[in-house]
Amino acid sequence: MTKAILLAAGLGTRLRPLTNQVTKCLVPIAGRPLLDYWVEQIIKAGITEALLNTHHLAEQVRDYIDQLDGDLKLIEFYEPKLLGSAGTIAANPNFADNADEIIVIYADNFSNVNIQELLNFHRQHDDPITMLLFHAPNPKACGIAELDSQNRIISFTEKPQHPKTDFANAGIYVIDAQAYQEIAAMQVFDLGFDVLPKFVGRMRGWIWEGYHRDVGTYKTYLQAQRDAVELAIDKFNQGRPAIFLDRDGTLIESVHYLSKPEQVQLVANGAEAIKQLRKAGFACILVTNQSPIGQGIITENDLTEIHAVLSEQLAQHGTKLDGFYHCPAVPQVKERTVVDSYDRKPGPGMLFKAAKEMQIDLTRSWLIGDMISDILAGYHANCKGLILVETGENLEGKISPLVNWHTVPDLSAAVKLIIN
Ligand SMILES: [Mg+2]
Repeated sequence: MTKAILLAAGLGTRLRPLTNQVTKCLVPIAGRPLLDYWVEQIIKAGITEALLNTHHLAEQVRDYIDQLDGDLKLIEFYEPKLLGSAGTIAANPNFADNADEIIVIYADNFSNVNIQELLNFHRQHDDPITMLLFHAPNPKACGIAELDSQNRIISFTEKPQHPKTDFANAGIYVIDAQAYQEIAAMQVFDLGFDVLPKFVGRMRGWIWEGYHRDVGTYKTYLQAQRDAVELAIDKFNQGRPAIFLDRDGTLIESVHYLSKPEQVQLVANGAEAIKQLRKAGFACILVTNQSPIGQGIITENDLTEIHAVLSEQLAQHGTKLDGFYHCPAVPQVKERTVVDSYDRKPGPGMLFKAAKEMQIDLTRSWLIGDMISDILAGYHANCKGLILVETGENLEGKISPLVNWHTVPDLSAAVKLIIN
């Protein structure tokens, strides 16, 4: 029997301000909390019991645990003061008592590691620890292992000045129950610094050739969003292409907190633009943030009426939208570049939902919007093209240099760009 420990209590200071609102292990990646990927992977490997440590915003993790159903018993271990990776083990010395081995996972990594294969490797040798290794692009910043021909780790150095290999510690270990008890008895703080050097010569390395990334900074986090879509791309590159349209300032005139159907007014040539896009084979899908619903300013019914008027205006010109998606969430942070809800733009959730429900190929799709949050939602969802129109609000917020978009005067110009 294998049990798991998910180390998930890190503060995520390098991911602020995102982690002021969302605890690091729950930051959304491609519309799902990071922790959710790990839960899925350990369930897939047949693990039925796991311990998860918490600290900052622990109640969010509790809510996450509460909504889990299925075969995994996930036990919270709350740390009022962070104990360190080895400290968490020291504080739970009996966790391995009825297990053969424990897999310890730093849950702030994003990885598609095959845990079952890792466990199989561990069971085939007789050393008490297996360390997962990956090829690091920056070995000087990692813990680097040197292996003999049996994959035994013969040296392990944190942040070496002259790395001998690029085999980096991935922050995932399989530890025999007896070694676990030995580590617990050491009463030390950090696995990497205080424990692993003591096991050199009696632990093995298993090299993962697949995907593995630390999601520690905003830059690596953004990259992980993209990678997640790449990894799951077979799910999202089938079907027809779409145009994801922001509503206010893009398809209709911008009105602050639009709340009444009579305020709906298509932008100049708006209906003609939709007509042309649909004729060119694109599904036209509205994706709109509707925090006034979350704030109680308008109701879901009000929004339905507002969108009915929009549909009427389009119908008068002989066209329509193929889908409507909205997110009622209230923003938690002011920064328009911070994903603080999976669905609320700049989160990609609405686009993923539409892609799934309407069989949309995101890699051939475009996003048109008037705000940086629109652009980023399209970016996070791996859209082919991103277009900013100048008919609405001004561009706001700092943006990663990774993101490129077109700026055009209005929706008609955006359509021209797409069709040509
Ligand atoms: Mg807008």
